[in-house]
Amino acid sequence: MGTIQTPPGTKDILPEEIGYWQYVETVATQILSRAMYYEIRPPIFEQTSLFERGIGEATDVVGKEMYTFRDRGDRSLTLRPEGTAGVVRAYLQNNLYAAGGVKRLWYFGPMFRYERPQAGRQRQFHQIGLELIGTGDPRADVEVIALATDILKTLGLQSLKLDINSVGDRNDRQNYREALVNYFLPYKEELDPDSQDRLEKNPLRILDSKAKRTKEINENAPSILEYLGDASKKHFDQVQQLLTDLGIEYNINPCLVRGLDYYTHTAFEIISDDLGAQATVCGGGRYDGLVEELGGNPTPAVGWAIGMERLIILLKKLQPSPQTSPDIYVVSRGEAAEAQGLLLAQKLRAEGLTVELDMSGSAFGKQFKRADRSGAIACLVLGEEEAVNQTVQLKWLQSKEQQTMTQSELFNQVGELKEQLNRHTK
Ligand code: ATP
Ligand code: MG
Repeated sequence: MGTIQTPPGTKDILPEEIGYWQYVETVATQILSRAMYYEIRPPIFEQTSLFERGIGEATDVVGKEMYTFRDRGDRSLTLRPEGTAGVVRAYLQNNLYAAGGVKRLWYFGPMFRYERPQAGRQRQFHQIGLELIGTGDPRADVEVIALATDILKTLGLQSLKLDINSVGDRNDRQNYREALVNYFLPYKEELDPDSQDRLEKNPLRILDSKAKRTKEINENAPSILEYLGDASKKHFDQVQQLLTDLGIEYNINPCLVRGLDYYTHTAFEIISDDLGAQATVCGGGRYDGLVEELGGNPTPAVGWAIGMERLIILLKKLQPSPQTSPDIYVVSRGEAAEAQGLLLAQKLRAEGLTVELDMSGSAFGKQFKRADRSGAIACLVLGEEEAVNQTVQLKWLQSKEQQTMTQSELFNQVGELKEQLNRHTK
């Protein structure tokens, strides 16, 4: 019988790459908490209706990508395909608006979409995302964009591009929608099947198509920017001005759309040239109608999500996986020595040192080889003699210098030992 494999489109995140994940989480946590964003952890499955309302039935995500199932109580539940709907539900359910003002929230975790697995596209993937709920001020759009670019820059990703657009308000979009349908109708037969389908349901999404002929047709489509009313124009101008003030470069891409009624004004994406077809690392925008759509009072909001897998593909090109190596590697042989080695390791860990204990019981020579490979700075050696005398040998792995001391001396001088270890890392 063969071993059981992961389902298609899912992956183990192995220890050899976990360093990247932890690095991204550390950087993001730091940057987001400095801006007073609080982490929120909604459940991974929700009632299916939340996503039907919160993302919209005319989208690919809801139409064909959801993991929906009935539980044993015959409820229709769905593994979350994205984070925003759950965060807004939590905001309403827990009265997070009660204190007034704006709410700044961020999240991290797995998302689930039934898509064709390929590089940068999985069925279980991870997003880090944030939502700024409670203000329609253009500064909010720019704050969230700036935070995304800060995170990506701090991680060392320099050559990313920011595309922005405005999808206007409900009125603007209604007028634009009509103009788009009129434009596309004569080309109906030439559009790809998905786009033909969208012509009635969600024509704005045709602009997003990756099909070759559709892309050509899109080139001469009317631009949403010509359909923006005064208020929308003003908002978009302010966003651009503030981005410029912050020194954030952007490109206006009128094809960048979010096709649902509750998306408004700013839409943006951060794109890399190094990711092939799956080029978007971060996608976001304003969704002033969503809170109301989910049963709350009209409340403007803006947010984004970064795809972790795509981000890590880019990080891998830049640097080797951050790995931890121990400060000290403990080598021991013989029953009494092995017991003392375990105790020493625990005590040193309690002092704040990183300690790896060799448990192989193999010959000293083999244990020393492993100590070298571990990247440790020093090695503690306990044999029969040391066990009897309650001593230990401290061996510096680079210089090969070694000294014998009693185990209590080792602990009395642990401060000094730490200093020595520090000197050796430099
Ligand atoms: P795409 O056009 O690539 O399908 P999307 O518009 O569906 O993206 P969003 O819903 O805006 O993506 O999600 C934000 C980000 O999450 C994307 O920019 C991407 O980095 C990541 N993402 C989305 N779907 C997947 C997936 N199936 N696998 C890996 N990452 C994904
Ligand atoms: Mg998608």
